[in-house]
Amino acid sequence: MARRRRTRRTRKNRCRFCRDKVVAVDYKDLESLQRLMSSEAALFGKKRSGNCSRHQRMVKSAVKRARYLALLPYL
Ligand SMILES: [Zn+2]
Repeated sequence: MARRRRTRRTRKNRCRFCRDKVVAVDYKDLESLQRLMSSEAALFGKKRSGNCSRHQRMVKSAVKRARYLALLPYL
């Protein structure tokens, strides 16, 4: 049997921030930050969230900032 072709598996952009052309991730945007976190407030990895390295780094520092300002809980 012939191997099945991979058709239309790859979307244009997996990183939601790249798709929206976000230059800097806002630490006050809790809604989008919480979408990248588990219920225990642990940040999802790059693979899980689908973010690119650049935006994942921004998300990481944004979450840290939000935690420091008590906008998000620590683990
Ligand atoms: Zn990105």
